[in-house]
Amino acid sequence: MICLGIESTAHTFSCAVIEKKGRHGKILSDVRKIYRPPEGEGIHPREASRHHAEHSSQVLSECLEKAHMKIADLDMISYAAGPGLGPCLRIGAVVARSLASYYDIPVYPVNHALGHIELGKMLTGARDPLVLLVSGGHTMILAFLGKKWRVFGETLDITLGQLLDQIGRHAGFASPCGQKIEDLASKSSNYEPLPYVVKGNDVSFSGLFSATKQIMSKGLETACFSLQETAFSMIGETVERALSFTGKKEFLIVGGVAANKRLSEILKSICKRHNCKFYVSPKEYAGDCGSQISWVGLLESSKKSGVKLENTFVRQSWRIDSVEVPY
Ligand code: AMP
Ligand code: MG
Repeated sequence: MICLGIESTAHTFSCAVIEKKGRHGKILSDVRKIYRPPEGEGIHPREASRHHAEHSSQVLSECLEKAHMKIADLDMISYAAGPGLGPCLRIGAVVARSLASYYDIPVYPVNHALGHIELGKMLTGARDPLVLLVSGGHTMILAFLGKKWRVFGETLDITLGQLLDQIGRHAGFASPCGQKIEDLASKSSNYEPLPYVVKGNDVSFSGLFSATKQIMSKGLETACFSLQETAFSMIGETVERALSFTGKKEFLIVGGVAANKRLSEILKSICKRHNCKFYVSPKEYAGDCGSQISWVGLLESSKKSGVKLENTFVRQSWRIDSVEVPY
């Protein structure tokens, strides 16, 4: 089976082609174009969707060319139907519907968070992991049970990616700022106390965000180091509790923030204590990309047929724990 996956939930417009043989998937191409807001500003949904509309045909042709495919060679198309920004989601859905109807190809709406997890599992070989999904749109700890991904902790306000991006923007950098914060943090070991908020097994980052802005006068490197140590320790505590509770023997980090080395270092040592195998999504595929969407489409196609065009949809807040997983 050959599937074209289309991702457009937020800053990234991406198309990818994966060929699935048995349980194995081969990524034939994955092309992305990322919307960059002006320095100091966050994603403007209308501007991002305009960016996606303008670049969609170029990304699609480049993706097919790299995969040595024509549209008629595709067995199916999947698109990220949510969660995400409404105007951005609609661009991906329109591209998917147009191709599906003109070329008469089955179409699959796919949950974006599921894409992060399933591609992470496929690329690392993890089979039944406790998952930490940390990105611009998510901060969740999840485990699979009874046909659904169940949430064992999440953020009560902003996500870890938003926390890092908003602090970076406050310092005047252009979003996304996670890598910049990591680089600055690695130059300090001077910890300034910041609010550490874990409630039950959920985390809250809004107080940490306000307090970090206030200690920026003590130096950006110190502020970034203290921010990372506090936020990542909160995540570490909740991951450790979820590991003890679920007894999982594998742990996987997915999402754009998975690229952070300090976060991996902290979580790796927790896994070691629990005799648990540690996996992290490869950096190239940790952030949003079409391969995530293509792979979930392929997994679903083994158990169900595509949806009728009139039943295709986008859903801005489509929680992963409401999705029944058929495969
Ligand atoms: P995604 O929404 O999955 O594409 O992930 C994007 C998020 O990942 C943004 O908030 C980035 O700032 C964040 N990110 C990317 N690289 C790093 C890094 N090295 N450390 C921390 N966060 C990162
Ligand atoms: Mg994402």
